Amino acid sequence: MKRARILVLGTGGTIAGAAVSATSAAYQPGGLSLDAMLGNLAGLDLAADLIPQEVAQIGSQDIGWPQWQALHAACAGALVDPSVTGVIITHGTDTAEETAFLLDLTLPAGKPIVLVGAMRPADAVGADGMRNFANAVRVVSDPAACGRGVLLVMGDAVLAARDARKAATSSIDAFKSFPRGAIARVTPARLDWFGPPHRVGWAARYPWPAALPRVAILTAGAGMDEQPVAALLGIGCKGMVLAGMGQGNAPACVIAALAEAAASGVPVVRATRVDEGIVDRNVEVDDDALGLVAARALGPAKARVLLMVLIANGITDAGAIQAAFDAG
Ligand code: ASP
Repeated sequence: MKRARILVLGTGGTIAGAAVSATSAAYQPGGLSLDAMLGNLAGLDLAADLIPQEVAQIGSQDIGWPQWQALHAACAGALVDPSVTGVIITHGTDTAEETAFLLDLTLPAGKPIVLVGAMRPADAVGADGMRNFANAVRVVSDPAACGRGVLLVMGDAVLAARDARKAATSSIDAFKSFPRGAIARVTPARLDWFGPPHRVGWAARYPWPAALPRVAILTAGAGMDEQPVAALLGIGCKGMVLAGMGQGNAPACVIAALAEAAASGVPVVRATRVDEGIVDRNVEVDDDALGLVAARALGPAKARVLLMVLIANGITDAGAIQAAFDAG
């Protein structure tokens, strides 16, 4: 296999986390610079040339538009640079699914772009970051990683951005993949894809927007009333995602308020607060009559990302939004 030349974009997170001690719970995400982190990897004898570029040194709970813009621009540059094999983005795990899906929606599915994180800080006993990073190098170095869209490598698994989701607060096996499971298993020595690349030659599905609109997630709870919907409209939300009960349900008064919002031109997507499962149209809620959209397989965080991208690209009609969610 040809020696890979990999652009490494550092954003911080636990993979670059500095702990108070190897056994303490407290740590600072992004406490280590990218150079220091890559210095720690020097002894791993990775079969790749790494080109470091620090984008941020933050916990990914603080990531947003400025970092996303920088990541998108750097990835777009790497995709057209013939000397670069692919990109690794070191990222906090809290919002890795959002960054991964945003880039997946807005970049062509050419060279591999892989997000990698860790659940334990770099200097904690049993730290998982080095192994995850070595696995990410293994993935990017494999020509068969091309044409699969943005990927996430965690816990010896390769997940597609559309499917990945953080599902545990602290175990090193924190990510789940729905509706597809992992698309490959990886160790530093071995990589087994479970199917062929399915997006070879695909262009970016949506242009990179000039800005992202304010879109909120409203989590449903038993006994709630409709006032939070009015509050969100009051702060200028341009779209809303319901993290509903079960099949994207909420009390009748909340559904009525959301339908009113949709009628006033603020698109509303019904997702679920349940761990997993598909939210379909017109099951308990009459989406056709109320002008609402069903999130299908996307959980609330990824539904919000897709809705932001759609609205930013002028797609606000419920039918067109539903088609985008049906397509993923
Ligand atoms: N809060 C951290 C972050 O997302 C957690 C992690 O990286 O695992 O940056």
